[in-house]
Amino acid sequence: MSLIDIKVPNIGDFAEVGVIELLVQPGDTVAVDQSLLTVESDKASMEIPSSHAGVVKAILVKVGDKVAEGSVIISLEASAGAAAPAAAAPAPAAQAPAPVAAPVAVPVAAAPAPVASNFSGTVDFDCDVVVIGGGPGGYSAAFRAADLGLKVVLVERYKTLGGVCLNVGCIPSKALLHVAAVMDEVKHLEVAGVKFAAPEVNIDQLRGHKEKVIGKLTGGLGQMAKMRKVTIVRGYGNFVSANHIEVDETTGDGQEKTGSKKIIQFKNAIIAAGSQAVHLPFMPKDPRVVDSTGALDLKEVPKRMLILGGGIIGLEMGTVYSTLGARLDVVEMMDGLMQGADRDLVKIWQKMNAPRFDNIMVNTKTVGAEATPEGIKVSFAPAKDGITVPEPQTYDLVLQAVGRTPNGKKISADKAGVAVTDRGFIDVDIQMRTNVPNIFAIGDIVGQPMLAHKAVHEAHVAAEVIAGELQGNKELAAAAFNARVIPSVAYTDPEVAWVGLTEDQAKAQGIKVKKGLFPWAASGRAIANGRDEGVTKLLFDDSPEAHGHGRILGGGMVGTHAGDMIGEVALAIEMGADTVDIGKTIHPHPTLGESIGMAAEVAHGSCTDVPPVRK
Ligand code: FAD
Repeated sequence: MSLIDIKVPNIGDFAEVGVIELLVQPGDTVAVDQSLLTVESDKASMEIPSSHAGVVKAILVKVGDKVAEGSVIISLEASAGAAAPAAAAPAPAAQAPAPVAAPVAVPVAAAPAPVASNFSGTVDFDCDVVVIGGGPGGYSAAFRAADLGLKVVLVERYKTLGGVCLNVGCIPSKALLHVAAVMDEVKHLEVAGVKFAAPEVNIDQLRGHKEKVIGKLTGGLGQMAKMRKVTIVRGYGNFVSANHIEVDETTGDGQEKTGSKKIIQFKNAIIAAGSQAVHLPFMPKDPRVVDSTGALDLKEVPKRMLILGGGIIGLEMGTVYSTLGARLDVVEMMDGLMQGADRDLVKIWQKMNAPRFDNIMVNTKTVGAEATPEGIKVSFAPAKDGITVPEPQTYDLVLQAVGRTPNGKKISADKAGVAVTDRGFIDVDIQMRTNVPNIFAIGDIVGQPMLAHKAVHEAHVAAEVIAGELQGNKELAAAAFNARVIPSVAYTDPEVAWVGLTEDQAKAQGIKVKKGLFPWAASGRAIANGRDEGVTKLLFDDSPEAHGHGRILGGGMVGTHAGDMIGEVALAIEMGADTVDIGKTIHPHPTLGESIGMAAEVAHGSCTDVPPVRK
């Protein structure tokens, strides 16, 4: 037995980190990889594991000390043969207190040895990195990898790049929502003495407009892929080994197979195969039952429409159809619409949108549906005691918006040894690496939140790690997904946007927060716009340790253009800003963005645009 020094291993980008918790005491017996202490940077907290097994003789640091790579933290009497195979990397831990969303990636247990490549056929393409899927995750990974000098092949089954987001998600929905917002906006001008005639909607032209928007963006991606010399192989990709993918080539507008196959040999792979809409098994196969893709096809405007699922996607599509003339019902199993956002924000949205709905059914399950000549007849049941549900109702259109399921089980991941969960997700570590060292995964397929901006950030991490490892660039190789928060936006009217800790989460987790709430009824710009129903809310750490100068932990807004403004709150959280930082930042007047500065001033007690606080 010998005394050895346990040191801080490579901690990525951070020069110095603070010790925030000691996890062992002198006399404790520890195993290899057991966490010894928690350190925190301004970005993340990490647990430092033990590189050896043995008995803790002395702890050489205390809470509050600063340590760096190589700092000796513990003196350990090592057991024989107790060393870890290699210096273990620190495992990410949740922030303390848990003020913000934990990183979406999960730590991978121990990386197993690479799966032996068992492919012996002819190879058509050989590359540094192959990317499966051309969505926001996939194309961003491919482009970043190419920009870093790697030879990249991108496999996509459809004829255009852009995935769900550009083709049948974010962009087409926003093209239609913009038209709907303008149609709704002009109605507000009536009070100002400007009255427009009822709009005449040419649905074919509106669909054409949406297609043009998509075409402009996806065409641009094709050009950028060419400029970067990214090879695009059109077809359906499946792993055949940990270094080979077989592509079943496709053609036409859909996924029609040509019968021809291509083999791609790769050093590294990035799985970005995305997700697809969940279809309830009891819904009839009928053109009047659609998912979001079918709804975006905009075949016609129904008289009565049921939105199954009260989440963002369903409510956005409902907004479009309702502005075009449909009457809406919505059914949601949970106790409220737009789960995730604070209830006070959703309440304002719901009040403004009540005229669109005949029935808002919460705590209600859909239990059956039948296609009849009159429409789709849907039956409901209470999701909890004491709820009354309507008799079966008949609809001209039913939108299934009950969630999305990852495509992890559709790429023969097992042939490469990549573990896929029962639900079809692929677990990754904070470098986006799967359990197979040369295979990475990003985007919807690795977990919630299923959002394009999350996919893009993960994509850059995966590409940088791969490039760093292939090129021996330590800085790039240490890239990690360390975002504290990921904003969410419902692009409804008004918009609802939130990021970081919500007030409901703070209550549930017993986190003490100071709230700054600025009602847009006090915003000159919102009043001038005739849209002063909004609210901006910021939450600051009010724990005793914050000594009255707590950092911002979260924020939310309801109001027009809330989605365009929430990025400032995300930046403030990433920068660890407090009420003074935000409140003393001069925001231009008169803008809706000013409401963020004023909400911080409200929390600080220095806002002069709201009534004085009673002493
Ligand atoms: P995807 O975009 O799903 O792309 C995966 C790609 O992989 C697809 O092109 C697919 O064809 C391809 N693929 C799959 N399997 C294979 C295979 N075996 N071989 C070859 N190719 C394959 N997010 C936002 O952030 N903001 C929004 O406003 C927003 N609005 C949305 C609106 C709607 C209606 C929907 C449905 C989604 C919306 N989303 C939004 C979510 C967003 O679209 C997704 O989070 C994002 O597209 C995920 O990107 P991804 O790269 O992981 O996967």
